[in-house]
Amino acid sequence: MFDNFDKNLEKAAIALRRYQGNPLPHFINGAMTCGLKGDSFDNLNPVDNTVLTTVARGGAPEIDAACTAATQAFMDWQHTSGEERGDIMRRLAGLIEKNAEDIILLECADTGQPLRYMQNTAKRAAANFRYFAEKARDISAGLSLPTATHDNITTRQPIGPVAVITPWNTPFMLAAWKIAPALAAGCSIVHKPAEFSPVTALLLAELAQEAGVPKGVWNVVHGFGEEAGKALTVHPAIRAITFVGESATGKDIMAQAATGLKRVHFELGGKNPVMVFDDADLERALDAVLLLIFSLNGQRCTSSSRLLIQQTIADKFQDALIQRIKNIKVGHPLDPQTELGPLIHRTHLDKVLHYIEQGRHAGAMLRTGGHRVAEHAEGNFVAPTLFTEAQSHMSVAQEEIFGPVLTAISFTDDEEALQIANDTKYGLASYIWTADQDRAAYLARRLESGMVWVNSDNIRTLDSPFGGMKESGMGRYGGDYSFDVYMETKHISIARGDYDIPRIGL
Ligand code: NAD
Repeated sequence: MFDNFDKNLEKAAIALRRYQGNPLPHFINGAMTCGLKGDSFDNLNPVDNTVLTTVARGGAPEIDAACTAATQAFMDWQHTSGEERGDIMRRLAGLIEKNAEDIILLECADTGQPLRYMQNTAKRAAANFRYFAEKARDISAGLSLPTATHDNITTRQPIGPVAVITPWNTPFMLAAWKIAPALAAGCSIVHKPAEFSPVTALLLAELAQEAGVPKGVWNVVHGFGEEAGKALTVHPAIRAITFVGESATGKDIMAQAATGLKRVHFELGGKNPVMVFDDADLERALDAVLLLIFSLNGQRCTSSSRLLIQQTIADKFQDALIQRIKNIKVGHPLDPQTELGPLIHRTHLDKVLHYIEQGRHAGAMLRTGGHRVAEHAEGNFVAPTLFTEAQSHMSVAQEEIFGPVLTAISFTDDEEALQIANDTKYGLASYIWTADQDRAAYLARRLESGMVWVNSDNIRTLDSPFGGMKESGMGRYGGDYSFDVYMETKHISIARGDYDIPRIGL
């Protein structure tokens, strides 16, 4: 669909035209609005830092309007049948597929993510809405636990209006992930997309309205985290907050949510180990390591950012890595050949370069990359980078760089590999490459991470739990786990006939 670079550029320019000229508006109570004061901010193109779109800058008043709309809409939406909500979600899935080309091009233009990794984003988002549409049908169903005297039943009901706060790395997919189960549950939502990648959030809300989502059920307010985001998390109408972003922001949001005792669900950062043992299929391990750290421009929460490599094969594996890294095609995100695009923003570029400097100073060996890309000096491009001979305590081995930087540490045996793997505040994903199934099972049980893949890259079904331990998150997404944040479980007990009630105060 996207094999002609020039055509991609042309089509993306046409798709973007709809969102240029005027600030990208909020979507509140079924209507586009630029807010009370009409403030806006610039959204920059990661390729050259020119202005891609201006965006309405929301604050407390816009958040209040959106939360009020979500509260009113919740009154009816919570009582619609699961079938009806499911039908609307299936229609939305169809519209996402119909608009897939625009969604993908806009997402790549806005985020700088290369087309090759985003081709399935609309398809997966549509599948996600269909999956949760099925779940909507019997979402309230619970247990029947009768006793001799009582009919006891459990049921679930939606928690109320929820805040959905998303990051900039794969914004369309993440919004779809979070919003689909909320709608299935019967919640209304206020979505605050990341300020660096706001475009597809509006498109998704527009499609939802076209699909029949009633006004006020789905609201979008653009703006900065400290302003719009914070106002949303402290708004009294909001009963739960589902947040995807940095661990540090998660801590802020937890504190903000505490005053209203709101339920929180966090998917946060990671510094994920990929352990490669000398008995592994090294060719496949190499493919997976490269893909997981350098796809999505290294801006992937589940990236294989720490390579733990067995000493006996370290030189061979690292040499092979360097060869392949040097071949990675850096370029424009809309070029179908591109394997690595620009980082999202200048501030993020500076952060990534700063970590690379720290790695150098700490004494890790910079084997390739480590610099900006001269041919694309106007954009936020960093050459794919490999550090070897790193030590676990170094910041390049501890901190989430969220860029195309791979840090290799060698180990001698299983216990040392495990100790290094767990030596981090994060606990999102781990990857094990070995031919020894007993070793894999032993390590998988002891790894402090929410997800473990053995001889695999990051492949997940919609039923599987997704989430992290330690500072990588709280709660799980996927399948029925998704409803833990959006629903209240209720116990209803109905007495059958006259049973003895102890009498006091006679
Ligand atoms: P971020 O934490 O800076 O921002 C995320 C969102 O939070 C944005 O919309 C931002 O405006 C908002 N925000 C910031 N401060 C806020 C506050 N005080 N109150 C309310 N909202 C606030 O994250 P980012 O830089 O946009 O994204 C990158 C991070 O996201 C990485 O750490 C990455 O690992 C993480 N991530 C995690 C997963 C996962 O599933 N675990 C998936 C994707 C990204």
